[in-house]
Amino acid sequence: MGDVLSSGKRKIRKKQQCFGCGRVFEPKTEMNFCNYADNGTVNTTYLCMVCQTVLDDDKDCFFKDNGEIYFEDIKNIDPECWEEIRYSLEEKNK
Ligand SMILES: [Zn+2]
Repeated sequence: MGDVLSSGKRKIRKKQQCFGCGRVFEPKTEMNFCNYADNGTVNTTYLCMVCQTVLDDDKDCFFKDNGEIYFEDIKNIDPECWEEIRYSLEEKNK
């Protein structure tokens, strides 16, 4: 990933795939986005709330040694931890 230009939360207007876990989300879902410059083009990645939480919580242990995150890494590096957070964010209040 190149330089981050802007990031934040927004309601998506069309279907977007989460970079961290590969799930596809429907329009109007709130997701975290990140615009970044890479070889002269601007790209946007989206993260669902689960992946963002995993990243915020565990940045130090997961990604301390390599700053790069690849597609579906956030889920695959520690699936049990990811699922636990997913459950607490998405299932607990149903
Ligand atoms: Zn995700």
